[in-house]
This record gives sequence, structure tokens and C-alpha cells, in this order.
Amino acid sequence: MAFEELLNDPVIQKYLHELVGPEGMPVAAAPPEGEVTDEELAEELDLELNDVRRALFILYENDLASYRRVRDEDSGWLTYLWTFHYDNIPENLEEEMERLLAALEEREEYERTHEFYLCEVCSIRFEFGDAMDQGFQCPECASPLESMDNDDLVGAMEQRLNTLREELNADIHAEAD
Ligand SMILES: [Zn+2]
Repeated sequence: MAFEELLNDPVIQKYLHELVGPEGMPVAAAPPEGEVTDEELAEELDLELNDVRRALFILYENDLASYRRVRDEDSGWLTYLWTFHYDNIPENLEEEMERLLAALEEREEYERTHEFYLCEVCSIRFEFGDAMDQGFQCPECASPLESMDNDDLVGAMEQRLNTLREELNADIHAEAD
């Protein structure tokens, strides 16, 4: 099996699992050295050919596998020879983390720069402007809307952001070494 060291990393296992799902995991978790056909993988891993193909295609879409087609001269059948490119995983993961970071930054800014009101009966939250439009009364149950403090949420988001930024920095430094 290739990329063994990479595949021992639980973060990478989780990433692959999210990509291919439980049915595709046997394929994703055991990339062979060199080229392999989907039939060989199905036989070796005792899986349905369709599950193998589905997993391979997802890996292909994520730049983690490629194929070349070879026509058998006798039968005329096309064979797909697959190669795994797990050396792209660290870069993919970093892009995922950057996307997550950007989304979380946007969300945190929204929380930090808006004021919210809450119906404590229905647990529905309103932005200040919407609460004002409703006359600070819940449109569902007519209870008064109470000013809501989201400092704890913003604080938790800031902590998460700091952790993410540190992880990304650590990655960049590890690559530079
Ligand atoms: Zn209500």
C-alpha cells in the first residue's frame, strides 16, 4: 500500500471518509502502488464494482486519482488504469481549512456587528431591524422580544478562529521546513 504515513493521520482519514463515504472508504484507505483497474480493486477488496467506481470518480474529481484508458487489442474493451495522487491531500486540506476560516470570519463579523432580539417562548431570533418592524413583539406568539446578548457566541467563534489560524500557520511552517 502507498501513502501509508499520510493515511495514519486521523485528520486525513476523516477527510477521505467525508469525501467518499463509508462504502468508498475501503478504496480510499488502501491505495495500491502504481496503476490498478477498477475490477482489480473490486476483487481485491471484495466490493461491488459500482462502489469502487463511485469512490474512484470522487477521488478523481478531487485531484486525488487519475486514469488512463487502454484498449485491449483482442476484445476491443476499454480498461481504465487508475493511479492515486495522495500527495495532493495536504494542499486540498489546506484549501478546505482556508474556506472554513473565511466562512467563519464572515459569520463572526455578522454576529459581532448586529444586534439581536429573541422570543424566549419560540426561541426565534430577530435582527434589530426586523424586531423593530414587528414592534418588538413576536409575530408567532405576541410575546415581547428581549434584547439578546451574543457575546458568548462571538467569544466562542473567536476562539475557534484563533485555533484555525494557528493550525494553518503551523501547516505553512511545516511545509517551509
Ligand atoms: Zn414567540
